[in-house]
Amino acid sequence: MSDTPQVLNLNYQKTVILFPEAILVFDTNAIITRIDKQTLTMFGWESEQEIIGKLGFDLIADQDKQNVQTAFHEVLQGKSITGLQCNGVKKDGSFLRISASASLFSDSQGAPKEIVVVVHDITPHLSELEQVKEAQKQLAEAQQIAHFGSWEWDISSDKFHWTDEMYQLFALEPQSIPVNQEVLLAHVHEEDKEKVKNFITQSIADGSGVLDFRFVDPEDNKIRWFHSRNKTFYDDNHQPIRMVGTMHDITREKELDQVKTQFLSVASHQMRGPLTTINWHAEMLLQSQSEGLSDTQKKYIQELYNASKRTVRLTNDILTVSELELGRMPFKPESLSLPKIAKRVLEDYDHKIAEQKISFKEVYSGDLPEIVTDLFLLKTIFHELISNAISYTPPEGTITMTISVDPSHTNTFLLSIADTGYGIPKSEQEKIFTKMFRATNAKAKVMGGTGLGLFIIKLILELNGGEIWFTSEENKGTTFNIALPFVSSNKGTLLTT
Ligand code: ADP
Repeated sequence: MSDTPQVLNLNYQKTVILFPEAILVFDTNAIITRIDKQTLTMFGWESEQEIIGKLGFDLIADQDKQNVQTAFHEVLQGKSITGLQCNGVKKDGSFLRISASASLFSDSQGAPKEIVVVVHDITPHLSELEQVKEAQKQLAEAQQIAHFGSWEWDISSDKFHWTDEMYQLFALEPQSIPVNQEVLLAHVHEEDKEKVKNFITQSIADGSGVLDFRFVDPEDNKIRWFHSRNKTFYDDNHQPIRMVGTMHDITREKELDQVKTQFLSVASHQMRGPLTTINWHAEMLLQSQSEGLSDTQKKYIQELYNASKRTVRLTNDILTVSELELGRMPFKPESLSLPKIAKRVLEDYDHKIAEQKISFKEVYSGDLPEIVTDLFLLKTIFHELISNAISYTPPEGTITMTISVDPSHTNTFLLSIADTGYGIPKSEQEKIFTKMFRATNAKAKVMGGTGLGLFIIKLILELNGGEIWFTSEENKGTTFNIALPFVSSNKGTLLTT
């Protein structure tokens, strides 16, 4: 027999061939010495030179290598193997399911010489059940690696199915107990239980939902963060029939987030001092009429002043976000008059309102009670809303600020700021409260926004009670509405009284 690699032309008595069949010959060290043409096709190689000389186990998927090595040694002992199923690896790294049969050939002295292996590609012929099993196995492995569970809820029969990893996430033995809503909620953090319940009901109404919530691990009492997404399916009469969802352990991401937030908090705190100094000196230069300076020099100072003001605003916003996220924002409740505070904030914008010839209307209900809340947080809400309405309304527009008592909710104020400005494009409205999001029309028209204002308001309202929503039409205007309780709650901010 020639030593040079050659494509085999073995004259086998073939049984009925249902599957593509390839033949490979190995030496006793499992090195491939010869192959037939079909081997190239089956494993996606172009020439026999590429494959000959390779270790046969290199064509086998990692999880099956051990089994195949054991089988190879059995064949070397003289045992024939038929129908050994495993996953093969193609040249491009993709897998194929193979069934292999192998026999030992000995030399004239009876010493083991080579092993001939017949391989069938059974990938397309796996029974449906096997394919489902295989897919489930792969899914389970993927879920385990990613700390990712999935679940299904048959709404009509109220039956849940959780994958093994779902059980693991909820600190339960896989498939150990039947699942229901109580099992789901048992170790959800007390403060998030209501949120999770609402999330399920809301997802039935909306068709889908996304929620991050906390879970208290019963084994060590440590808090874990889960990210949940789900989708509801309906019958022809729009009755909900099924909900499917995923659950992802994002504790590590949250911890990293926390470290980043702490870093941002320290950094912005440190930056605020020098920035304020730059800002103040630029302002002084401008106010002292900049005697002896040329027009160009004055223009430079004006630009310096504008840029430093924008940076101070960004730094302040970053600091506010980080303090709120870290639960370190001081909260000092006091009795305050909403119209008074609104007017006080508005004074800061008098100049801009006049400059842009905006007609600013204030409508306050007559008998408004005082609100009990933190002054800084309340002023922040007014500042962000008023400055947005002014920034995103072209000259000569109208802004109307209304403060009243909500007729449909007890002990709640309604604050609304309506403008006749650029509006928010429909397709971008759902992202508007996302951190650092700015709509395309806003970015094109107004420089220097941070995309943090609405995010800050949302955080304040989540922590201190209240809600924000809006209606908007492009090039017609936007109305932001806020519901504020008479007495703010204080979840997650530092109480200073
Ligand atoms: P910023 O105004 O600094 O960009 P915000 O968080 O306050 O950040 O607002 C986020 C985005 O929401 C804005 O960039 C803009 O696209 C949109 N937006 C907010 N208020 C209005 C408004 N009154 N009219 C039109 N768009 C608005």
